[in-house]
Amino acid sequence: MKSKSMRFRWFSNLKKWVVNNLCCVVKKKNIKRHRCKDLESSVVDKSCDLTAIDLSTITSADPPFSSHADLETEMSKVKLDDLNIVTPLGFGGFGRVMLVQVNCYSKETYALKIINKNHIVAIGEQARVLNERDIMTKMRSDFIVRLHKTFKDDDHLYMLMEPCLGGELFTLLSEGKNLSHTAAKFYTACIAEAFSFMHSKGIVHRDLKPENVLLDSKGYAKLIDFGMAKKLKRGKKTRTICGSPNYIAPEIILKEGHGTAADIWSLGVLVFAMLTGRSLFKVKQDNGMHTRNNILKGINDFVFPNEIQEIAEDFIRRLCRNDPDERLTAQKISKHGWFNEFRWEDLRDRTMEPPFIPKVESSADTRNFACERYRKEADYPRIDDAISWDPDF
Ligand code: AMP
Repeated sequence: MKSKSMRFRWFSNLKKWVVNNLCCVVKKKNIKRHRCKDLESSVVDKSCDLTAIDLSTITSADPPFSSHADLETEMSKVKLDDLNIVTPLGFGGFGRVMLVQVNCYSKETYALKIINKNHIVAIGEQARVLNERDIMTKMRSDFIVRLHKTFKDDDHLYMLMEPCLGGELFTLLSEGKNLSHTAAKFYTACIAEAFSFMHSKGIVHRDLKPENVLLDSKGYAKLIDFGMAKKLKRGKKTRTICGSPNYIAPEIILKEGHGTAADIWSLGVLVFAMLTGRSLFKVKQDNGMHTRNNILKGINDFVFPNEIQEIAEDFIRRLCRNDPDERLTAQKISKHGWFNEFRWEDLRDRTMEPPFIPKVESSADTRNFACERYRKEADYPRIDDAISWDPDF
């Protein structure tokens, strides 16, 4: 009799426990679902089919995958519908770049470039977009932002990239700030590594400037924005005028034909900017003509300020030789005296301590990006031909 009532009590306790726990799980699920729904209705971007998510669900800033193989397997499963917008990162010539999560509750975040096809057709830049995608898929360097995957729908193309949450190198140099020789050397070395890889494949970037160098959460620099990059045929040069006014090489301005040495010139200009906080050729309050003339005059008669050590001056002069064939190549940069005692192997295996470790507390921490909270995409009129030029995306 006693054992029967005990068994009954045991069963009823078990029943209570199961019901309680089930209710709890269902409740939690409902809360999460509603939170996502609320966010969707408050910040959902109706211009592309992505939803927004709650930042508080993301905590870790560590790289999510232990190997590239893990990442590639994970990426192969990702669909456009799985992506949720966290917050905007920046705006470029081809579109917006958003921080996204693969699903509402995972810790991994990515940078997603969202390109409006109607806009690209209207400005006639279809070839450039396809070119950027083609070139980025070939990039396999720790010093170049990795493109993981592309997607498309009727109105948009999407490029899912590795996120760099340390911000732009530009921010470190804004308002005339300069960097120490150690810091400038570190970032120069990162870019030289990126160029070594690209140039060995015959690819020229053509738009190096501080805005196109991002820091990852550990403080290592990576090159972005391959919208102007070009793959050169062996031994051939290209003539299109492109680049940013202060960083453009003289042979591009003169339409003499340019190759990978044009990137080396821009790197020389960037090294000067890092060491002095000033621009090498730019003339203030100029409509562009004086700066252009300064670039064409070249660096031979330029008097370097005292804060630049002789060895650094020699380095910059060798990067900015007027004759592109006389410039250092990306592979030879490491041999220059400015890099004496610089441990290239430590840089390559990422054991060198970066000069500046950005504040990044979680994989959704975008404090290093001065981008307003949310901006809707402009209303681009629909163009009929916008659908069919992107078969490879
Ligand atoms: P882009 O269209 O490539 O010029 O990018 C526009 C802006 O978006 C850049 O200036 C960066 O601020 C930001 N951005 C682009 N790619 C990334 C990335 N992989 N990680 C973080 N921010 C990015």
